[in-house]
Amino acid sequence: MTRDMNEDIEKVVFSEEELKKRIAELGKEITEDYKDAEETIYCVGILKGAVVFYTDLVRSINLPVHFDFMIASSYGNGTETSGTVKILKDLDYDVAGKHLIIIEDIIDSGTTMNYLMKYFRERKPKSVKLCALLSKPSRRTVDVNIDYCGYTVPDEFLVGYGLDYAEKYRNLPYIGVLKPEIYE
Ligand code: 5GP
Ligand code: MG
Repeated sequence: MTRDMNEDIEKVVFSEEELKKRIAELGKEITEDYKDAEETIYCVGILKGAVVFYTDLVRSINLPVHFDFMIASSYGNGTETSGTVKILKDLDYDVAGKHLIIIEDIIDSGTTMNYLMKYFRERKPKSVKLCALLSKPSRRTVDVNIDYCGYTVPDEFLVGYGLDYAEKYRNLPYIGVLKPEIYE
């Protein structure tokens, strides 16, 4: 049995170099959009999946930002989410009157983010925008507006760069698809 995670990957979807380039573009766009903002910008990362994207993205934003994180889990039976979202770790700060940028790994059905965006708006921020590295529009069951989207992807299960399969592969530096025998 090998411990080399690369051997479990069938194909690379976004290489390390490609991700680096796209994230630099997103950071530049965000920097441009908020360069005249007077209120503090809070970058809110959704743990754990967004953590790798988060750390690269914030370093490509050339403005002062504050860090905050949330942990949310969507209830469901097996692979389908039920629509109920439980907050396991809330924001550390009172974000009323602040600019929020929510940073997420992937928007799939949209259930989690649809719930969280409503939750954030109730905290009365000055503004709230969503930045997602990946979006699978073909899987959407509820509407979610993505202000900054890295890539639109087809309905394939992706791992790496924060995305896991049973908690594994989050630390792969690229995004890929697993070999089918890995799921067996
Ligand atoms: P949603 O509420 O939009 O259906 O769920 C989004 C969450 O589902 C993501 O934050 C992620 O944890 C998980 N997810 C959706 N698609 C994928 C995928 O292709 N790969 C992995 N590893 N997780 C996914
Ligand atoms: Mg997630």
